[in-house]
Amino acid sequence: MDQKETNISIIRTVLQQTFDHVLRYLGNLHKTSVATTTSLSDLRQKLNLTFPERQTEANEVINDLVEATNGGLLGSTGGRFFGWAVGGTLPSALAADWPTSARNQNGALSAVSPTVAVIEEVCGKWLKELLNLPPSASFALVSGCQMAHVTCLAAARHALLVRRGWDCERDGLNGSPRIRILSSSERHGSIERAVRLLGLGTRSVVDLPADENGCLQPGTLSEALAKDPNVPTILANITLDPAHRHLLAGAENADSWATDGHKWLNVPYDCGYAFITNQEAHRNSMSHRATYLTHDQDARDQIDWNPEWSRRGRGIATYAALRELGREGVANLVERCCRHAQGLLTGIVGLNGAELVWKSEINLGLVRFLDEKDDAESDDHDRRTDKVIAALAESGEAFFSGTTWRGRRYMRVSVLNWQTDEDDVVRVIEATNRILERE
Ligand SMILES: *Cc1c(COP(=O)(O)O)cnc(C)c1O
Repeated sequence: MDQKETNISIIRTVLQQTFDHVLRYLGNLHKTSVATTTSLSDLRQKLNLTFPERQTEANEVINDLVEATNGGLLGSTGGRFFGWAVGGTLPSALAADWPTSARNQNGALSAVSPTVAVIEEVCGKWLKELLNLPPSASFALVSGCQMAHVTCLAAARHALLVRRGWDCERDGLNGSPRIRILSSSERHGSIERAVRLLGLGTRSVVDLPADENGCLQPGTLSEALAKDPNVPTILANITLDPAHRHLLAGAENADSWATDGHKWLNVPYDCGYAFITNQEAHRNSMSHRATYLTHDQDARDQIDWNPEWSRRGRGIATYAALRELGREGVANLVERCCRHAQGLLTGIVGLNGAELVWKSEINLGLVRFLDEKDDAESDDHDRRTDKVIAALAESGEAFFSGTTWRGRRYMRVSVLNWQTDEDDVVRVIEATNRILERE
């Protein structure tokens, strides 16, 4: 064999082996524990090898890696995972992600990969159609919703300051007019980090109190706006999902929108979306020119809209997912997740010792488990709630994450995976019942 043939033979062996590993993993998800079954120290022992002096064959590296990580993975791509807001991986999105690495195109400039540039153009257009956003809005495919907040807020910062004659890209924020950010007290923590990264500082965020359901009342906002009418103000609070549109009435009036691909669109991690009505502010806050770069007049160079430079062709998985689902498929997926979340909540709170705390109209709810002794206090209920969450994970039957809300412990029920079905719902309710009878 000549060298070229040897290279491809190595690649073939390792990819075929990986394909088998992945199929086995995905095929066994419904039979295996959804929680990890190994400890951190086990994982360290298996993975933290002495840094190798010598080379290892690629297929051996992969075999060892699979072996060492067995039991250390959460079954979040399967149907019995209800923790945080992870989301599943659609078949086409998973399959599209593999050649994304195999072809390893740079997603910064059209000159480096015209295909990736055009795919992202189409993703932006399709996503705006799906989400009912203005066709003229600019967009960026970023790493996640956290970076979508950064992108949107960078454009907002630019737009507010340029109106006051301040060039913050050139002069920074030293001595600039102070910006205020109004946000619900129930906002996502990533807004705070975006504000920190952008040099606005967390002190510029004004918490507007949410009501007992976690909603912001319009009166609270207008009051805050009226208080200091001349301070440049960013309103940062809008989250977005494609269905249940009535819940988003008014969202179309925003100047920008941030959302995640890994959540309801079920694409693999590493994809968030930012949309901005003020194209000029977006571009001015992000674009970058250098003499050795090649810019094409006709093309959309991602570097002009994205905070990153080197980036993978992350639009490819999104393109595949949007094509696989279409508008109808997205609606079905959202509808199923909501229905199964409601089913789980109804089933679980029907069990002895369980209590519904809060239920959204969509795919999310909070429950807690009551300590049944006569003089039980809130702390006892907190403890039992944590115990049941842990026991469910321990059983391997379901994975829920806990949360502290207004000082008390709750179990979050969050359904966000195309794989979750009626059988999973029944199975998880039964597992919860067994645990409540025992614990
Ligand atoms: C999920 C979520 C985030 C987190 O973004 P990631 O970068 O995906 O972790 C931020 N903001 C909102 C509104 C979210 O729903």
